Amino acid sequence: MPAYKAPLRDMKFLLNDVFDYPKHYASLASGENATPDIVDAILTECGRFCEEQLSPLYQSGDEEGCSLTDGVVTTPKGYKEAYNQYVIGGWQGLSAPEEYGGQGLPTSMGLLKQEMMGTANWSFSMYPGLSMGAMNTIYLHGSDDQKDTYLLPMTEGRWAGTMCLTEPQCGTDLGQIKTRAEPQADGSYKVTGTKIFISSGDHDLTENIVHIVLARLPDAPKGTRGISLFIVPKFLPGADGDSGKRNTVVCGSLEKKMGIKASATCVLNFDEAVGFLIGPENEGLECMFTFMNTARIGTAIQGVGPAELSYQWALEYARERRSMRALSGKKEPEQVADSLLHHADVRRMLLTQKAIAEGGRAMLYDAARLADHMVEGHAAGDAKKAARYNDKLGFLTPILKGFLTELGNEAANLGMQVFGGHGYIREHGMEQIARDTRIATLYEGTTGIQALDLLGRKVLLSTKGGAVRDFTARIANFARKKLTDSRLRPLALDLLKLTAQWNLLTVRIMLAARKDRDIVSSASYDFLMYSGYVTMAYIWARQAAVAADRLDKGGDESEEFYEAKLATAEFYYERLLPRAQAHASSMLSPSKNLMQLRADAMIFI
Ligand SMILES: Cc1cc2nc3c(=O)[nH]c(=O)nc-3n(C[C@H](O)[C@H](O)[C@H](O)COP(=O)(O)OP(=O)(O)OC[C@H]3O[C@@H](n4cnc5c(N)ncnc54)[C@H](O)[C@@H]3O)c2cc1C
Repeated sequence: MPAYKAPLRDMKFLLNDVFDYPKHYASLASGENATPDIVDAILTECGRFCEEQLSPLYQSGDEEGCSLTDGVVTTPKGYKEAYNQYVIGGWQGLSAPEEYGGQGLPTSMGLLKQEMMGTANWSFSMYPGLSMGAMNTIYLHGSDDQKDTYLLPMTEGRWAGTMCLTEPQCGTDLGQIKTRAEPQADGSYKVTGTKIFISSGDHDLTENIVHIVLARLPDAPKGTRGISLFIVPKFLPGADGDSGKRNTVVCGSLEKKMGIKASATCVLNFDEAVGFLIGPENEGLECMFTFMNTARIGTAIQGVGPAELSYQWALEYARERRSMRALSGKKEPEQVADSLLHHADVRRMLLTQKAIAEGGRAMLYDAARLADHMVEGHAAGDAKKAARYNDKLGFLTPILKGFLTELGNEAANLGMQVFGGHGYIREHGMEQIARDTRIATLYEGTTGIQALDLLGRKVLLSTKGGAVRDFTARIANFARKKLTDSRLRPLALDLLKLTAQWNLLTVRIMLAARKDRDIVSSASYDFLMYSGYVTMAYIWARQAAVAADRLDKGGDESEEFYEAKLATAEFYYERLLPRAQAHASSMLSPSKNLMQLRADAMIFI
């Protein structure tokens, strides 16, 4: 099985040439230390860590999986040692606040780290990833005392965290949560209930695990308005700040699942476990969702990572595997047959993977700047700034999460296809990438829920189409400036047509929804995918514009890199972007074709 190579050339192209991160970081208080030299050094070091420590554990972790013995979860061989290296490297605190032991670098630096770690070994990256979610929640909603108790050991990576939302009866519809929290005389709570599917719910990597739990107070209102948030530590912190007495939360079982087998997915039983309220009573969901955009972007990375990894390995295979002759004549006459790389259909698969990996990465880096501004607003107590950037990011988040994870699955499947029958055989690792990636469209809000969030909430309800108008204005503004550039003109013309169409589609759905209430749901998936293809087209045009500019100026040693960018952009526009039109036509069809079939006539057996 080949190894992961950090795609530093592409990452630096996006950061420095396309999105001008040096200027962006210079505009942030947290960017003071994110100078180009430091960013460069961090990326290189992180890439090395991922290549040398995490990638070698990718396949062995899948083979071995996690185990549960006498209520104790053990991670696969090598995970503990790699995690210790992660802690020693100070990676958990990279973009955590300095006052709690972090390095205070911008949030986007954390996402770059997450991308490399997640691509090298997604299962491993989930342990620190879930902790970040818990840390953010405590940082924003915890009392000073709670922050002092929990944030330092979590930032150091000595303690980990989880997010405990899902219960057997509900994952999407959290209004159905049953876990109870009884107030105690000392101000603590006794938390009782069962949570399922909890990632990193128990493991042997850290001294303690801090569970962030959604539960109901007695007499809380029904539904989502009656849910509160609690900190329930595995070990109750002692007076010295270290982990003390064992709390009554235990892992009842490990889920047996399709992929990410080295990530412990736990059933957690809370049996009058000691918990502490975090944030106001009955506002648990609002608190939990404050950092939802950044968490979901974290999951969107699981679309890009597998596309990158699967592409790297499929490309290597396609270079070496030989089959028949190219239709346009022998390409390697000295060999028994031409390599797979000379067949157009294999190239269709490889270039689709490449376009998804590089286009997706660019979409993430574009959005990550908004996350930096939003977090900076929070840190400075500037609620207006935080809300403004949260809204901008909020429009892009479902597109990134929903669209990129769907495409990540496509890319992982194409990687298997390039390997032919060997793609289905475990030793090559291609089927593992496909299995590991499958979860990405399911957790952190399924694709269907992302689609409803985008069309129903962000586009129709909150902004009456304003979110699309604002974003397309940005695209059109860029496109108009490129009309006079002969190389970019075709892309710019396409973008201008698409921005007009995106607005028109929004208005047509808005009007149709007055008579056909189900259309918001029936159109939502196609609307999400359409939005994704157009956003990626914009992002590919931006990359192409920089590449064309560098080639025109000449004298750059990376000519081949820029030519590859232009060729991939052309491939994207001519072969993948046309899919947007199928989504456009499908989304406008009435919901009747989905709803007319009576429930009892759905199947005849
Ligand atoms: C490996 C793994 C790790 C996980 N990690 C965690 C974790 O760390 N913490 C945690 O709390 N949870 C976790 N989860 C749970 C995960 O977030 C949920 O499974 C997910 O949110 C979906 O919820 P559900 O399974 O209850 O599906 P359901 O909510 O039952 O949905 C079933 C289907 O119906 C669709 N649907 C539901 N409602 C609607 C609607 N109103 N309109 C249209 N379509 C709808 C959904 O899109 C989906 O396709 C994890 C799950 C897995 C498998």
